[in-house]
Amino acid sequence: MHYDIAIVGGGISGLSALHYCRKFHPSKKIVLLEKSSQCGGNIQTTFRDGFLWENGPRSFLAKEPAMAELIEDLGLSSNLVEANAKSKKRYIIKNAKLEAVPMGPMQMFRSPLSNWAVLKELKKEWSLRSVSAKGETVAEFARRRWGAEIATTFIGPMVSGVFAGDAEKLEVEAAFPRLLALEKEKGSVLKGALFGKKRKGPFEGVRSSRLLSFKNGMEELPQSLIKVYGENIKTDKSVSSINREGEDWVLATENAGVIEKVTAKSLLLSCPMDVISSLFDDTPELPSEVLAYPPLLVLHLGFEKIVHDYEGFGYLAPVPEGLSALGVLLNDHIFPGLAHVGSSMTIMAGGMRFAEMSKNEIAEWVEKLIFEQKKLLGIEADVLVKEVCFYERSIPQYNRGTCAYWEKLQNWAQVSGVSLCGNYLHGVGINDCVRNAKEWALSL
Ligand SMILES: Cc1cc2nc3c(=O)[nH]c(=O)nc-3n(C[C@H](O)[C@H](O)[C@H](O)COP(=O)(O)OP(=O)(O)OC[C@H]3O[C@@H](n4cnc5c(N)ncnc54)[C@H](O)[C@@H]3O)c2cc1C
Repeated sequence: MHYDIAIVGGGISGLSALHYCRKFHPSKKIVLLEKSSQCGGNIQTTFRDGFLWENGPRSFLAKEPAMAELIEDLGLSSNLVEANAKSKKRYIIKNAKLEAVPMGPMQMFRSPLSNWAVLKELKKEWSLRSVSAKGETVAEFARRRWGAEIATTFIGPMVSGVFAGDAEKLEVEAAFPRLLALEKEKGSVLKGALFGKKRKGPFEGVRSSRLLSFKNGMEELPQSLIKVYGENIKTDKSVSSINREGEDWVLATENAGVIEKVTAKSLLLSCPMDVISSLFDDTPELPSEVLAYPPLLVLHLGFEKIVHDYEGFGYLAPVPEGLSALGVLLNDHIFPGLAHVGSSMTIMAGGMRFAEMSKNEIAEWVEKLIFEQKKLLGIEADVLVKEVCFYERSIPQYNRGTCAYWEKLQNWAQVSGVSLCGNYLHGVGINDCVRNAKEWALSL
């Protein structure tokens, strides 16, 4: 078959690119090729014994206009659910205890997570005139602006919550460009965060700082896209080679030994970076650890009833606490309206902190993690149901060298005549993926 455009990869990047392409260029003949039997990529909602669990993303901030537009176009607005106000409360582990993250200056004075040294560093940051050097890591940035304690207690855990990453390795300019922008524009991140312009969110009646999901979980989003664009989507088509033939791209797909060919004038690569590197022999060489995909174990536990006293989003664990979990999500308080029978939590482990984690060790990790949670949260009840999801390759790490690599990659793409859109480029959040997909479609 011959197409105007072929999209490789049916995660949220590829699916939203398909949507915006059909919206802005309805006459184009377009196909999306997905390796697995179902599209959605990392977005996976599972239902088991009355519990709703998210293996991948559980929410997104109500701040991205391209996401709001996509949801509106799909007629999904009435299915949106807003996170409970209680989920604003977050915890960090300190001396093997959950401590609430201070939400304002008064709490800061009283919190066991802060002390005079921390408060002094915060005050210093207010008027600190220093700028980021090229390739600065998130930890270096945090130490420069706020000192070592804040870097370890707050910023390190925040980074493992977003990227399952290592603050000592992630490049601040690539991973958190907003921090650099605030430093540059306001002279202080704190000042910018407190006094920055509060933009009105693109979702009617919802503040842009709120988290959103859907009544039936995050998978509603890819499922709706699949329903609308089923005729453009081919699943079980693992693209195994891509070659130029004259003006066309020829893509070979493989499934159970059967090879098929698809030709297209244009190509959008929405599959993971390591797959892109394997499909072309001239992509710029990836420096060690740049866009590495560490393993991630997601363990869901269901209990018959509420089994602990903590209310809030969940907790994150700083490295010095030496815990096996990176963090835990207290599902009962995030979207309490979403189906579940008793009480549940989701534990994350692995990431860059335990990058050697392998599939063979899952049973051992599960035991260790359950034991750890029971002790930390004081749970006496037995686990009613457990569900395990293991990502051998989870979230691409924007480690030191990523910005320089992106530049080379984008030059390569331009020379080769391919388009790029996926979580390996300019943002891992699903908001970023949808925004980049819309921008690509507008650029056609
Ligand atoms: C555990 C976890 C929790 C997360 N939590 C959040 C969150 O709460 N909020 C948030 O905003 N983000 C979150 N993220 C990040 C976000 O989910 C991802 O970055 C985003 O979903 C990536 O979408 P994508 O389409 O770019 O890539 P992917 O979802 O990885 O999709 C790529 C697709 O390409 C396909 N593919 C691979 N090889 C081939 C091939 N050879 N041929 C054809 N197809 C191929 C794959 O099967 C896959 O479907 C989380 C991620 C994980 C793993």
